[in-house]
Amino acid sequence: MSNISFDNQINAFAYKNDKDLKLSRFLFRSMTYPLFVPVAARATPLLMKFNLGVINRLVRRTIFKQFVGGETLGETSALAKKLSEYNVGVILDYGLEGKEGDENFEIATDKFIEVIRYAATQPNIPFISIKVSAFAPASLLKTLNEAPRLRSGIHDNEQEEAEWDKVCDRMYRICEVAAECNIGVAVDAEESWLQDPVDRLTMEMMEEFNKGKVIVYNTIQLYLHDRLKFLEISNDIAKQRGYLLGIKMVRGAYMEKERARASQFGYPSPIQPNKESTDSAFNKAIRYCLDNIENISVIIASHNEQSNLLAINMMEEKGIEKNHPHIYFSQLYGMSDNITFNLAKDGYSVSKYLPFGPIKEVIPYLMRRAQENSSVGGQTSRQLVLINEEIERRKQLHS
Ligand SMILES: Cc1cc2nc3c(=O)[nH]c(=O)nc-3n(C[C@H](O)[C@H](O)[C@H](O)COP(=O)(O)OP(=O)(O)OC[C@H]3O[C@@H](n4cnc5c(N)ncnc54)[C@H](O)[C@@H]3O)c2cc1C
Repeated sequence: MSNISFDNQINAFAYKNDKDLKLSRFLFRSMTYPLFVPVAARATPLLMKFNLGVINRLVRRTIFKQFVGGETLGETSALAKKLSEYNVGVILDYGLEGKEGDENFEIATDKFIEVIRYAATQPNIPFISIKVSAFAPASLLKTLNEAPRLRSGIHDNEQEEAEWDKVCDRMYRICEVAAECNIGVAVDAEESWLQDPVDRLTMEMMEEFNKGKVIVYNTIQLYLHDRLKFLEISNDIAKQRGYLLGIKMVRGAYMEKERARASQFGYPSPIQPNKESTDSAFNKAIRYCLDNIENISVIIASHNEQSNLLAINMMEEKGIEKNHPHIYFSQLYGMSDNITFNLAKDGYSVSKYLPFGPIKEVIPYLMRRAQENSSVGGQTSRQLVLINEEIERRKQLHS
């Protein structure tokens, strides 16, 4: 059994000065007030539209500072450098959410390529993250997801075919530059009604670029009840076709939306029946990846302490070294520093998922983080306890 402790708040917050730590306490506390997040989640995007300087500054100095690396690549660099001092890497994520149209899709593709080239110049940015919906029409993804005929790759709609070719070309260009620069590309998992073509395209890119080393990673959401099976099938295909499988494992971020849509359209919800089943699938997926570590490179992306502990205990049990090149851990920037910095200190490969981008573009991401951190139970209370302990310890030290 590993003797790592996620209670060590000194390691967790060493990178934060007193002022930043107090800001984190203020934010986590605010998010636990029952009305704060629902009101802020509705009002902030509206107020941002009016371009009011005062709102912009308020958001920038509070929630943006807690969860985002900056507005530009340059602004992320000081933070990435600071994280590197604690052996923490970065998964850079340009925060784009669903702008439609070929022009925007090309802008997004170019931006992803720019981020890859930038990452290649930095010592601690091994991955970037991309969203296929940033360069593909949502309606096309939805159609391809629905039609079984199209799923099998048989197309008879010329316009859709031409649109899909463009999407494939954009994805290819991104992955090709990533392979040249030796930077991993983690493809985000999205809503289940868009996901099938994303999976297929990502698998095709793996076949092209994951020979000998892993460049492309697909994301599996273990809150979907078919994903464990999907992981096994993906690995079988990768083995048959002679490439390495890249997997980012998450529980999944769109549970309410998934359930609401299933109930609206009257199909069975694709989500596991309860949290325990999601946890159990996630933990089985960890075991499966570690059992197949010669063929799978895995990013364990979770704030769940038990799952992270399970992974490191299994690694120890199996005699897998802490910095094995096929095992990475990752948490979102601004969350679960007690996991990230304690894992890093103990020699595991850990990266913070660091979004950046113009404040208006990252608002949906910020609202999701606020909602995620608004439950009084679980991680938020845990973070608050650790932050309070550290503030208290520093106070004693200075008195
Ligand atoms: C580095 C990183 C990258 C990520 N990338 C993606 C991505 O590409 N796509 C994506 O969708 N999400 C992504 N996420 C978010 C992730 O899916 C989770 O929402 C988030 O991490 C919370 O899960 P957890 O494992 O940290 O911990 P926990 O707090 O233990 O789990 C909470 C999660 O459990 C599941 N859950 C909760 N209640 C129930 C219930 N009643 N029934 C069934 N399941 C339940 C939900 O998925 C919920 O989010 C990412 C997270 C990280 C850290």
